[in-house]
Amino acid sequence: MAQLTPQDYMAREDKYGAHNYHPLPVVLEKGEGVYMWDVEGNKYYDFLSAYSAVNQGHCHPKIINALIEQSKKLTLTSRAFYNNVLGEFEEYVTKYFGYDKVLPMNTGAEADETALKLARRWGVKKKGIANEEVKIICCEGNFHGRTITIVSMSNDPDSFANYGPLTPGFIRIPYNDTRALEEVLEQHGKTVAGFLVEPIQGEAGVYVPDSGFLKKSYELCKKHNVLFIADEVQTGLARTGKMLACDHEGVRPDILILGKALSGGVLPVSCALADDEVMLCIKPGEHGSTYGGNPVAGKVAIAALEVLKEENLCENSETLGALFREELNKINHPMKKLVRGKGLLNAVVIEPHNGKTAWDFCLALKENGLLAKPTHEHIVRFAPPLIINEAQIRECVAIIEKTFNQF
Ligand SMILES: *Cc1c(COP(=O)(O)O)cnc(C)c1O
Repeated sequence: MAQLTPQDYMAREDKYGAHNYHPLPVVLEKGEGVYMWDVEGNKYYDFLSAYSAVNQGHCHPKIINALIEQSKKLTLTSRAFYNNVLGEFEEYVTKYFGYDKVLPMNTGAEADETALKLARRWGVKKKGIANEEVKIICCEGNFHGRTITIVSMSNDPDSFANYGPLTPGFIRIPYNDTRALEEVLEQHGKTVAGFLVEPIQGEAGVYVPDSGFLKKSYELCKKHNVLFIADEVQTGLARTGKMLACDHEGVRPDILILGKALSGGVLPVSCALADDEVMLCIKPGEHGSTYGGNPVAGKVAIAALEVLKEENLCENSETLGALFREELNKINHPMKKLVRGKGLLNAVVIEPHNGKTAWDFCLALKENGLLAKPTHEHIVRFAPPLIINEAQIRECVAIIEKTFNQF
């Protein structure tokens, strides 16, 4: 058969796949470290990192080795039986983050669902809220995944509209607004089980809240006996310059949700962490997942977490993130409205210019050898793998500056 062209690959996906994504027109076939290559052999800097799943870099040898070794031995037992890896992972991850227990799942959405179930169950069993009355507070602009219950929290019509009846029991408040949180807690605190929040809103466009927001929110939750639940699926695991984004304010969530980089982009691994008071509210048979906590996931996650420490990725993210923003701020162009972010989770707000938008900007970046994706029309997120070095960051800033100057 003749060699497929990029157009052939794209047409095939379009023909046989559901149209639930709108990808940039590049067909990738290889990844290594901070780079990806397309089917024609063009090399790119990856500035999306699969939405921060690939913090450790593409095909990290240590993580791939863990995958290969474990997959030759035992891949899945289900939780009907014990296996010799699950406990090793559970001990490792709970000690790593300082919690009594972990509940392993696969995707980020499932870990969020797990946290919601834990919070509601705790609300009923421990706080004594009537089952029908339990509420969770969430934030405008949130992104926690794609299940019906999770999109029931969303105020983005693309996410929730025309999917039929939504799940009740949520109160949505503006993000970064502790006054609003305080008012809702004063009014409904007795029936609220948890406050679910992203420490930085990633999908919404890398919205960094005012400093003190997390700490104040946490204190308000404590005052009203409400669980503080952090969705660190995107912000966690060294992305923002600390192991968790909550660490910037010294806040320890009552329930911590992790995913994405927990496997370094190798397979879906997620989890919810909590102490016994919360975690033991769920009893055998009351929640689970066939693949959750499988031996391959366990070995891969341990390796992925080890890499974060061994390669000092928190420090690298912090230092190079600061350098990246400093250098981007020096670029002077009418299309560049604003740069914001923390660590290596950054975004540039694009001002449409001569009819050109963030999408056109990303197409031009691709031609210049850097892959990034717009979020919400006018925002471009820049989130390279955290193993990137200073010379590479400077080269990428030069690519971005050159791209601006082409408009
Ligand atoms: C990506 C993401 C999720 C959902 O993760 P999936 O693995 O796609 O289900 C949840 N929360 C946040 C903050 C995310 O960025």
